[in-house]
Amino acid sequence: MSNTTRPNYFWSILSMKCPRCRRGKMFNSGNPWNLKKVFDMPEHCEECKQRFELEQGFWYGTGYVSYALSVALSVASFVAWWVLIGMSSHDKRFFWWLGLNILLLVVLQPWLMRLSRVIYLYFFVRYNEDYKNTPPKEFNL
Ligand SMILES: [Zn+2]
Repeated sequence: MSNTTRPNYFWSILSMKCPRCRRGKMFNSGNPWNLKKVFDMPEHCEECKQRFELEQGFWYGTGYVSYALSVALSVASFVAWWVLIGMSSHDKRFFWWLGLNILLLVVLQPWLMRLSRVIYLYFFVRYNEDYKNTPPKEFNL
């Protein structure tokens, strides 16, 4: 039994913590907009020794996650725009939304790329309460 509390799933993803222990950081730098270090990750989790890049080319699949996130964000901004500003075929409001949405996606891209890696790894590695006494997950295909 463990006497530590289990960190929240969504908060762990948003704060980009290791999926296995939800305590170790997945990125060396806390700032995704430092583009030279956007993918600067430790090889292993400092807390539970979980390997992050489970196999060569593991991050290739994050493209799909990043695409899904971009679509979800666009839908959310469209709905927000519709509710707050409204849409009409008689003026250029739709194009304003389109332009601002593209800007939003570009600005958020470094953060979205990191978030994609985090979410992708969460698909494969589950939280393990007993991470101190069990070996980290290995990926064998
Ligand atoms: Zn960990």
